[in-house]
Amino acid sequence: MHYLVTGGAGFVGSHVVLALRDAGHCVVVFDNLSTGHRAAVPHDVPLIVGDLSDQVLLASVLEKYSFDAVLHFAALSLVGDSMRVPFTYLRQNYLNSLNLIELCVQHGIRRFVFSSTAALFGTPEQQPIMESATINPGSPYGESKFLIERVLHWADRIHGMRSACLRYFNAAGSDPAGRAGEDHRPETHLIPLAIDTALGRRGQLAIFGSDYPTVDGTCVRDYIHVTDLANAHLAALEQIETCSVTYNVGNTTGFSNLDVIRSVERVTGQHVDWRWDARRAGDPAVLIAGSERLRRETGWVPRIASLDDIVESAYRWRLTHPDGYDSPVYSQEDCETPVP
Ligand code: UDP
Repeated sequence: MHYLVTGGAGFVGSHVVLALRDAGHCVVVFDNLSTGHRAAVPHDVPLIVGDLSDQVLLASVLEKYSFDAVLHFAALSLVGDSMRVPFTYLRQNYLNSLNLIELCVQHGIRRFVFSSTAALFGTPEQQPIMESATINPGSPYGESKFLIERVLHWADRIHGMRSACLRYFNAAGSDPAGRAGEDHRPETHLIPLAIDTALGRRGQLAIFGSDYPTVDGTCVRDYIHVTDLANAHLAALEQIETCSVTYNVGNTTGFSNLDVIRSVERVTGQHVDWRWDARRAGDPAVLIAGSERLRRETGWVPRIASLDDIVESAYRWRLTHPDGYDSPVYSQEDCETPVP
């Protein structure tokens, strides 16, 4: 099969590219490299450097290759950031996706996998969160993803485009073969920050909020290994041959921010220096995935499910790639494909 992966140079997208290639598929990546890394895209995968707002370029890419499906990751993705610049998030995520979906319909592409988020649930009363839980986004980021889910709903009803909306919980870890890892600049995610603090590569870690209604007062999240998450996309691709689907993707286990610190200390053998800080705007107290539907309908099972194993996987990559994708192990060879 032939797939277009937007945002394939980013954290989750790059791991999905690896999973698709490992399964024998042909992949083209479309990424503006605003947060992604050229070196995250394997050398033999065509990388089109472009912005989704460039519809002429996008249309030419869709014309040049006959894609069986599009997997769409390219988006602004920080909850806290979206509380600062809401219109940027709403506009960019929504409009770029709307245009992409419309172009796909125009080019006869009838399969679409969308990287959605647990952030569209806001603060649900019931945990774990099932797909049927009330949608009530707690941030413009979550709202933007929900709007795109609605576009896909209508694309199916009116044009027969089958889609999978995968609502991610907290992705972490790195490719078990060491080919890819997590490299956000600036890094804002708890696990890589705690690891870098343990390694002495940054200062004290701030823990945002001590008064959430949880066991220890800190937020609780459901961490999923990025390769398990990537494999959920392959399972979803099979499933949309039958009908459109929506799945929550997580491990159905919650860990508080202090649990994460303790796990990083166990795995690294180092102390994590941390302090309390104010709550971060937009953070829900608890997000735990109810992933039974995905398991039941597709047979997907997470392989690296324990928090320590996920942290260990992230740690291994940070240890061997102190400068992330700027580490010498990645050749700087130009792998960009000329614009068609
Ligand atoms: N967090 C924190 N300090 C940091 C970064 C994150 O306390 O420097 C907390 C954040 O407030 C949330 C949890 O860690 O409660 C997970 O946040 P992250 O940004 O990793 O993922 P998100 O849940 O926003 O997708």
